[in-house]
Amino acid sequence: MLDIYEKLFDHFGARHWWPGDTSLEVCIGAILTQSVAWKNVEKAISNLKQQNLLDWENLKRASAEDIEPYIIPTRFYKMKAKKIVSFVRFVEENYGSLEKMFSEDLEVLRPALLKVWGLGPETVDSILLYAGEKPTFVIDAYTKRIFSRLGAIDADISYEDLRSYFQDALPKEAPLYNEYHALIDGLGHHICLNKKPRCMDCPLNELCNFNNTNSKKE
Ligand code: SF4
Repeated sequence: MLDIYEKLFDHFGARHWWPGDTSLEVCIGAILTQSVAWKNVEKAISNLKQQNLLDWENLKRASAEDIEPYIIPTRFYKMKAKKIVSFVRFVEENYGSLEKMFSEDLEVLRPALLKVWGLGPETVDSILLYAGEKPTFVIDAYTKRIFSRLGAIDADISYEDLRSYFQDALPKEAPLYNEYHALIDGLGHHICLNKKPRCMDCPLNELCNFNNTNSKKE
């Protein structure tokens, strides 16, 4: 597992994730980024900043309707505004601040966040890893696609099983999980494309079942 990490790191270098000035900005970005390109999230984050809605005191008083107009670029914006409100309410009612929330034990906080309305496991793990610096591995569609093409996992593996697959094989270190997920995103976004993967340019091509099978056919 670390050999794959090293090949990806040699290819892409450090990716400096997650872009965001504050932990609150990272949390809101993690909620907004689902099902939309990052450039749209950047527009929404910039809008929220201009309205001082990435200030905790202002955001905790905002309703979903107050937030909606500024996050329209992120699609499903009405639903996402409700998710932001439900997340902020959870933090406020249970901890009073993000800092206090992130001082909570990961084994307590992750299950609690997974029960918050509107937050799925990818969003929760992104918040915990990238805003809270907790060692929890983030799984996304790229992770499943790449590791199933490599031949390491079944394509229909569950989120939790794939998360365990990484966590059982790697040292439990947040900086490593941070960089590894960012590198997987780089490969999925630029090289291991859904329809036409660019296997010739891929740093993992010698290890990859998909590539080895297809190159034999040619
Ligand atoms: S060799 Fe091709 S299919 Fe395999 S991981 Fe790389 S880009 Fe994806």
